[in-house]
Amino acid sequence: MTVRVRFAPSPTGMFHVGGARSALQNWIYAKQHGGVFVLRIEDTDAARNRPEWTEGILSALDWIGIARGTYEGPYFQSENAGEHRTAAAKLHAAGRAYYCDCTREDVQARTGSQYQGYDGFCRDRGLTAGPGRALRFRTPDLGLTVVVDLIRGEPTWENKLLEDFVIARGDGSPVFLLANVVDDMTMGITHVIRAEEHLPNTPKQQLLWDALGVKPPVWAHVPIVVNEKRQKLSKRRDKVALEAYRDEGYLADTMRNYLMLLGWAPSGDREIVPWSVIESEFRLEDVNPSPAYFDEKKLRAFNGEYIRALSVEDFVEACQPWLTGTETIPPPPWQPSEFDAAAFATVAPLAQTRITVLSEIVPNVDFLFVASPEIDEGSWSKAMKDGAGDLLDAAVEAYTALPTWDADALKAALEAVGAERGLKLGKAQAPVRVAATGRSVGLPLFESLVVLGRERTLARLQAARARLP
Ligand code: GLU
Repeated sequence: MTVRVRFAPSPTGMFHVGGARSALQNWIYAKQHGGVFVLRIEDTDAARNRPEWTEGILSALDWIGIARGTYEGPYFQSENAGEHRTAAAKLHAAGRAYYCDCTREDVQARTGSQYQGYDGFCRDRGLTAGPGRALRFRTPDLGLTVVVDLIRGEPTWENKLLEDFVIARGDGSPVFLLANVVDDMTMGITHVIRAEEHLPNTPKQQLLWDALGVKPPVWAHVPIVVNEKRQKLSKRRDKVALEAYRDEGYLADTMRNYLMLLGWAPSGDREIVPWSVIESEFRLEDVNPSPAYFDEKKLRAFNGEYIRALSVEDFVEACQPWLTGTETIPPPPWQPSEFDAAAFATVAPLAQTRITVLSEIVPNVDFLFVASPEIDEGSWSKAMKDGAGDLLDAAVEAYTALPTWDADALKAALEAVGAERGLKLGKAQAPVRVAATGRSVGLPLFESLVVLGRERTLARLQAARARLP
């Protein structure tokens, strides 16, 4: 039997990191078993679907290493609508489903309590199809439904506790539960690896497989992803879109490594490991079923490590989208003509050891490319205390007279200027840094001034001096 897995996202506007993790797990499972990965876009909720969102899914998958053209699909659930209706009709014809015209209020009025599922009122009324009549699946009254789940063992449900659930709405359109099963069936899916959120659907779906006469797949429900308060990651509250991480400057390698650690760990005491190790060591059976904590701080630290492990050339290349701007990344504060690739290449290694997301490159190097840096007022008021004017005057004088414009000479000269005023180098540096770069933190100062050049450095020190009493 060829293993066939699928990733079946609904195009709802952004690509959830939890979805990215399921996609990767499916991808690896297929690869490890010589199987096939199928991409199916579950686009039947017409009101909420847009073509650009599908495109977003394809490009996000591509970014994370699931390249277009290397999998089967994308298929679209909407294209299979005929099959969904045929299956609904078949279940009805076989007596496994019946029409029902009850409203929720009807059920509540009959049961006299809070709505706790359908009470089976229409089971034997023999209603025919008609507007406003939903089709319900007749769940068995006796027995158990046992699901084989690679991560959770054999979760079991008592059939009598499963309500007769709706499989097609009053307008005849099949609902997710049925469409999803029929698609998996027609696509020959052998293993359904998906988020834990769908576990409650699974006994119902397995009953549908049985009723349609096809052997159900093996299931694997991967743990939900939670935030630091142990709440399920939600798009309203948390940063969950893979694209947001990409645009902030997380590397694809960081993301896929980190996502795979949600509920699983490689051998030894390692977390940051090459993808090839993950591909060979990952075992779906070893995934921990408990909720997995998405720790953004840890992810960021991982990313810093991944950035530092790049060659300088690759780092320079990786920074490009932030140096120019893209459709989704805002342009930098300089004009394209002001950018100097050679100057950037010189400071890139200094930035590479400091930044943890690539978007941080911009505030670290913008002082080199803008005509005059925007001064951060907080930095200014801290650095430009009493005596700053005098210190800047002396720095200008010393820097004008320097025979060579190199980092050691710049440092020695400022050290001397500071010493004459009883200031340690750190204190003497502060006004010079803010004047030259606009901020109190950044790349090593003297190397930065070397790249900025004597003329621009002096002009900025003088301009800052002029603002002081
Ligand atoms: N379209 C469903 C979702 O995005 C996936 C269902 C499944 O994987 O079975 O949650």
